[in-house]
Amino acid sequence: MTTPARYSRLAIFPHADLEKLREKRILIVGAGGLGAVCADILTRLGAGKIVIFDYDTLEMENLNRMIYKTEQVGMKKVEALKEYLNHVNPDVEIIPYPLDITGDGHEAFIKELEKSDIVLGCVDSFGVRMFINAKCVELKKTYVDGGTSLDGIRGSVHTIIPGKTACYRCHVVSQKTDYPVKTEGHETGTCHAVSLPTTMGIIAALECQEALKILLGFGNTVPYIIYDGLNGTMNVVNWKRNPRCQVCGKKGKERMDKRKFEELENIDELFEKLM
Ligand SMILES: [Zn+2]
Repeated sequence: MTTPARYSRLAIFPHADLEKLREKRILIVGAGGLGAVCADILTRLGAGKIVIFDYDTLEMENLNRMIYKTEQVGMKKVEALKEYLNHVNPDVEIIPYPLDITGDGHEAFIKELEKSDIVLGCVDSFGVRMFINAKCVELKKTYVDGGTSLDGIRGSVHTIIPGKTACYRCHVVSQKTDYPVKTEGHETGTCHAVSLPTTMGIIAALECQEALKILLGFGNTVPYIIYDGLNGTMNVVNWKRNPRCQVCGKKGKERMDKRKFEELENIDELFEKLM
């Protein structure tokens, strides 16, 4: 069988068979500056199915993010993104959910999570990251989380393979006080944070690169990558699992039900105050 022309330069990639991506179902949470670019990259790679959750509506203020167009302002981000991706590569099935994974979309999110091969976190909230992390650990799904700093020039990518690498909570929350720990290069953004398309593009591409390696089994998994755009550096941190972690540790496993999530929202506020 001959390779379709659109994949010809991918088919000669020597480290893995990229065609295997056709069998993969990828879940992206967040369709902002990171999520839209991740979806674009994965669509061009010819992923099988891409499921995207985001309840936001596209506003003029979002147009500094890549992918979105002026005439799409007012549309749900996931619908605008699907419209674009269908033009990029009609082979890829895009499944949009204009829902909140911690609210009206909770049930749909869990169902999709169970079916997915990997999760890409592209959110701007510490609490939501903690929530996705806990659910991914519980359901044993690999979670690649991306984030950029409040000043827009630094970012990080965190890869969580349940049972193997440190989970998000292992090192961003103090095991003694349960409060977030300030970690250089790991500030979470908020909707008021700077969003620079350069940094967003770099972090989204790094997230996809890590996801590709895990999905297709090549290269080395990197638990934590820190990018510093001011100095043009990229560092790798080999985080170790915290045996006392409340999510992935041996003792005291917690389940993130909705009540627990309210507590996480408080952590989110605390975390922002620390920044
Ligand atoms: Zn952990």
